[in-house]
Parts: sequence; structure tokens; C-alpha cells
Amino acid sequence: MSKVAIIGAGVSGLSMANYLEKNNFDYHIYERRTEDDVKGHGFILPKEGIEYLSQIIDIESLYKKGSFLKKYICYCHNGEVLSEKDLDDVFVISRSELIEILSKGVPSGNISYEKTLTVDDFSNGKANLSLDDKTSIDADIIIASDGSRSRTRRKIFEDEVIKAVLENEVVNIIEDEEIANQIESNFLKFHHKNGGLTFGILKLSPTKILWYCQFDITKYFINEDYTPDCIKQFMLDNFGDWNPLVSSIINGSSYENAHIWRVYELEKLNPFYHNNVVFLGDAAHPLIPFTSQGVTSALKDSYTLTQLLMEGENLQETLKKYEEERKPEIEIHIKNGRTLLNQFLLPLNEQPKNTLPISYK
Ligand SMILES: Cc1cc2nc3c(=O)[nH]c(=O)nc-3n(C[C@H](O)[C@H](O)[C@H](O)COP(=O)(O)OP(=O)(O)OC[C@H]3O[C@@H](n4cnc5c(N)ncnc54)[C@H](O)[C@@H]3O)c2cc1C
Repeated sequence: MSKVAIIGAGVSGLSMANYLEKNNFDYHIYERRTEDDVKGHGFILPKEGIEYLSQIIDIESLYKKGSFLKKYICYCHNGEVLSEKDLDDVFVISRSELIEILSKGVPSGNISYEKTLTVDDFSNGKANLSLDDKTSIDADIIIASDGSRSRTRRKIFEDEVIKAVLENEVVNIIEDEEIANQIESNFLKFHHKNGGLTFGILKLSPTKILWYCQFDITKYFINEDYTPDCIKQFMLDNFGDWNPLVSSIINGSSYENAHIWRVYELEKLNPFYHNNVVFLGDAAHPLIPFTSQGVTSALKDSYTLTQLLMEGENLQETLKKYEEERKPEIEIHIKNGRTLLNQFLLPLNEQPKNTLPISYK
């Protein structure tokens, strides 16, 4: 049986490991972070993402850790309601909770933390792999799920152009029962009238909310120390005079776990495989956050690749089919993401009304 090495235990790598585990593959997953260092933001999952997750996890455990969103309410920054839309099975969960749930499906003997795995070179069409302590790792198939700035990808496709996206985000998860009650299960998003600046609020649980801001990096600047004080100052400077709900949240938040996300995209997609290395999730196709499709796409990549591997054809044929199945849909999300980004940069009165922050294929 083929031996599979997975690089990275984010949502992509862990969902792949869950699928391989359920189908009795011989695999091992290597993750460079420590087991408990799960930073990050929250995920909005459209219905399709939940359907894929339900194949590999106990879906009730997911429902306990996040919440379904009922309505998307779009506001001007002063609090005037601009539009409302019902949401159909859209779910929100923190990244750390989802990673924890997915990790439970991988036996401890199949995952190593604090291990950075590198593709060194290729001989006879196969990648040579080593860990940071120089131990060689033997594998027939290498699944690179090492994120949007994948080193594996950059090593193989040396000419690729990775670009900073004009939008970045600050994301924070805070305990606030009162506001969680107040916003009910709605997804609230406030937009500055000049465009390029938004503030979103979502309820994660009866006591926790997730808030995030999106900003045009050509107009708004954050001190690159990224300390909690710098992030707080940035939020106060730019959102301090917004609607009282927004200003009370940013004033009342702790910034110890606030996170700044620099967003990147590829100028042009690379092939999704090279010899016996195959790319999954953000490593194959970083998506602009406006699509809310990063997790669902990663789950679909894992599902598709597992199904094709089970057919047991020649590996190159399998990887070719994987790319043929997944690339067209990803190209649609990339196009939609760029459209949503361009709309976000426009003054509010030039933006289309009723646009959901989700890309549908
Ligand atoms: C601001 C922002 C908001 C987003 N919001 C949403 C949303 O609402 N909904 C949604 O679906 N998606 C969203 N996404 C996208 C989503 O985060 C990703 O698509 C999803 O998490 C899949 O990531 P991944 O597992 O491919 O990569 P990552 O989460 O980046 O995981 C890669 C893992 O690989 C490890 N690693 C890297 N190199 C090595 C190595 N050499 N050896 C071992 N380990 C290594 C890293 O430590 C990391 O754990 C958002 C992204 C951003 C930036």
C-alpha cells in the first residue's frame, strides 16, 4: 500500500488525514507548530462545507462549538440599515475549535507536532523529504497542505508570483454575553460610506462573539509591530466614532488574542501537483477571504483526492483527474473573490446592494 506524508495540520491537512483514516490508508501528518498553538480567526461555513464535514466528524460536536447564522444585516457605519438577507444554513465556528474537532479523528501515532517537513529535491520522479533534524522521511505520495504561503509550492514553482491582496483583516474573539444576546444569531456587517473599511460581528456561542475588520491597505495603516496596543490603537483611530455598538465593542475588547491577517493570492494558479507531490487547500489555491470558501474548498479537495486515490489508478493519472475536477471550481471562487474585493474598495453608494460575503459557484 502507498505511504502518504501530509505536510501541515491546518484544516486541509487534518481533513485529508480524517478521510485517509476512515479509508484505512497508511499516512502520517507532520505539523511544525506545537499541538496547543492554534491561533486564528473564525470560519464562515456555507451549507456545503457542513455536508462535507459531516462525512468525517460527529456533526453534533461541531454544532455544540459554533452557531448557525439566521440573517445577514448590512449597515452603514453610522448604524443605518442598508439591507437584510436570510441565510440558509450558514455556520460560524472559531478556527481553534474546528482544528480541535478534526484533530480528534487522527490517532496520536499518525501525527507529529513540532516537525517541519521539507521537500529537498527530486530523484527518479519522487520527492526526497526531510525533517528539520535532517531525518529522511520515506513516502510514495506527499500531500502539501502547508498554507497560502506554502514553502513546498514556492520551492517547486520557483517562478510563481504571490501578491499581497489590497485588503487585510483584524480578527478578534471575545467573551461578551450581553452582546452575544443582543445580536442574536445574526451576522452584522457595518460599512464605511467611503468604502474600503468594514466591521463584522458574529455570535460564536451564547457567551462569545467574533468581530473582524477589513481594511484597504492603501488607505489605512497599522503599525507593523502588531502588538495588542498597536492593534487597539488602529481600531480606536478608525472605528472609535462608528455606531455605538461597534465603538463599545472595540473599546471593551481585550486585544491579547487579536490577530492581523495579511492576505495573499497567486497571480496565476500553479498546477495542483508535481511528480508525487500534490497540493491541497490554501497551498494549492489561496482564496480571498471575501469568498468564505477556504475551508469548504479544502474539504472538497480532501474528499476528491481520497476518492480518486481509492480508485487505485496510476498516481499521475489520479493527480491529473484531481486537478481537472477541482481547478474549474476554484477559478470561479478566485474570480468571485476579486469581484467582491473590487466592490469593497468602492464608495458605499457605488457598491451593489444585497451582496453576501460568500462566493457561490
Ligand atoms: C483573514 C482570513 C479570513 C478567512 N475567513 C474564512 C472564512 O470565513 N471561511 C472560510 O472557509 N475560510 C476562510 N479563510 C480561509 C481559511 O483560513 C483557509 O482556507 C483554511 O483554513 C485552509 O487552510 P489550510 O489548512 O490550507 O492552511 P493553513 O490553515 O495555513 O494551515 C497550514 C498548516 O501547515 C503548517 N505548516 C506550514 N509549513 C509546514 C512545514 N514545512 N512542515 C509542517 N507543517 C507546516 C502550518 O503551521 C499550518 O498549521 C480565511 C482566511 C483568512 C486569511
